[in-house]
Amino acid sequence: MKLILLGPPGAGKGTQAEVLSAYYGIPTISTGNILRAAVKAGTPIGLKAKSFMDAGKLVPDEVIIGIVAERLEQDDCKQGFILDGVPRTIPQAEALEKAGVTFDYVVSLELADEAIIARMSGRRVCTACGAPFHVVSKPPKRDGICDNCGGALVQRDDDKPETVKARLKVYHEETEPLKDFYAHRGLLRPVPADLPTIEACTEAIKKALEAKL
Ligand code: AMP
Repeated sequence: MKLILLGPPGAGKGTQAEVLSAYYGIPTISTGNILRAAVKAGTPIGLKAKSFMDAGKLVPDEVIIGIVAERLEQDDCKQGFILDGVPRTIPQAEALEKAGVTFDYVVSLELADEAIIARMSGRRVCTACGAPFHVVSKPPKRDGICDNCGGALVQRDDDKPETVKARLKVYHEETEPLKDFYAHRGLLRPVPADLPTIEACTEAIKKALEAKL
């Protein structure tokens, strides 16, 4: 199963990617998580990416394309993979196509801007492993502590309301056109992301992928 999870920030891409990864036994490649780790480690890519991320802007395509190409070459991607947060621009999608990367489906998680802004205020992320939590819909067992690795949970700098607005603008201008790009290729599967629970959304995604199960 080779899958892209597309959708605005806060639609639940990271959370659903985690569940689907375990279900299909394939890795998730999250450029956001890779970049946050690079920023934390102070690598050259991290230093380059930080100012874009803090402003809610996209990191330049050539940086992203390099990261993804390198990751997809690793052995664990041979049976399939889930791309979370990438591609995010038409040039990124074209670069993947040019590199011969194919997909079974592109799941587009659909959520209105107002719901996103409300949701993002409760979002938390593990500083150690990147696992996503939410104070209402996915609370950790112990307050402020990651269930998976015991790391500290924080609000991402780019989840602050002003940055969220900037990220939504970028999403509509640069990422949303990917829906047409993949619809033309017969791959797009829109799924509502405003269902009452995370599990209900997972079921809706699995149903959309039914033909491949
Ligand atoms: P995310 O965790 O996917 O919301 O990504 C957080 C931030 O990392 C974004 O707001 C961008 O600044 C950057 N980023 C992640 N993935 C990409 C991508 N595919 N293209 C450009 N920038 C990205």
